[in-house]
Order: sequence, then C-alpha cells, then structure tokens
Amino acid sequence: MKCEKHQKPLEGACQWCGKQLCRHCVGKRWGNKLFCVECAQSSVGAIIERKQLEEIRKNEQVETKKRDIRKIFEDY
Ligand SMILES: [Zn+2]
Ligand SMILES: [Zn+2]
Repeated sequence: MKCEKHQKPLEGACQWCGKQLCRHCVGKRWGNKLFCVECAQSSVGAIIERKQLEEIRKNEQVETKKRDIRKIFEDY
C-alpha cells in the first residue's frame, strides 16, 4: 500500500484520526505512535506535547532518584 498523496510506502496510521500515513504525511512522532500533520497542528498536537513533557519530567525524576541512591553508596 502506498500513500495517495506522496506515492510512498505507508508507515502506519494516525493515532488520532486513523488516516494512513507515509513518512511525508507524519506531522508528529511520539515513541512509535504517529500523528498526521492535520492532527499535529490541531489541539491534539498540544496534548501530545504536554504528554511528552510529562514523560520527560517523569524520566528526569527517575534519574534524580537513581542519582540519590548512588550518592548514598558513595558516602560509604
Ligand atoms: Zn490525524
Ligand atoms: Zn504521504
């Protein structure tokens, strides 16, 4: 199957509207989830960005915790 617009192989469907996307149609990637350009530019894009930030922040917290544990061991 190929994208009708770009004649490129499809990479997957938009997680929001379900449209089939080739790499030129992808507006946003989040992990292995794809979103089309239209959805990425709409309010969905803002939601995705907020979720991405939340995830980054969560990962940072985990990193900080790891660092704290390391510090405890370094004190010994
Ligand atoms: Zn979409
Ligand atoms: Zn396309």
